[in-house]
Amino acid sequence: MEIDYTKQHPVKKIKKRSIAGRFLAKIVVSEVLFHEGSACWEWQPKLDGGGYGRFRTEDEHYAHRTAYKLFVGSIPDDKEIDHRCRRRHCVNPLHLEAVPHKINQERMAEAKTECVKGHPFTPENTFKMKSGRGCKICRYQRVKEWRERNPEHARRINTESKRNWRQKQAKSDNIVR
Ligand SMILES: [Zn+2]
Ligand SMILES: [Zn+2]
Repeated sequence: MEIDYTKQHPVKKIKKRSIAGRFLAKIVVSEVLFHEGSACWEWQPKLDGGGYGRFRTEDEHYAHRTAYKLFVGSIPDDKEIDHRCRRRHCVNPLHLEAVPHKINQERMAEAKTECVKGHPFTPENTFKMKSGRGCKICRYQRVKEWRERNPEHARRINTESKRNWRQKQAKSDNIVR
């Protein structure tokens, strides 16, 4: 077969944008949402069930994690990405911080303004727990329900605590005298 050296071979045009280019095409810089003076970058495609943006790369699924890797640096294995602006769909690298799991959990708990049942976390309605804060209304409800379910046990505890209290009083009265 004779080869035609004069013939022009079609050059396949590869139109491939960089990851950063593809990524940035999916955000809108917010005009209303800010954190410490810089605007949130709102992820435009549909969010996942947890409210996060999804963006698939070789080693990532989450848009905010990709944002961190693209514009800040690698994410250490023992750290998670925390949204300082507390908006899960935001991918502004300035609003993202790599923190240990525990700190992330604590910050998320602190950011909540109400308990799972919707009672407000006001100072009057909040008590400290080993893992964050508790709701006093819910605690009261739980105790009440338990008493209703275990009336005998509840009565016994009640009389015992009264007796203990009386004994304590008696002792301290003795000390005073
Ligand atoms: Zn933000
Ligand atoms: Zn509650």
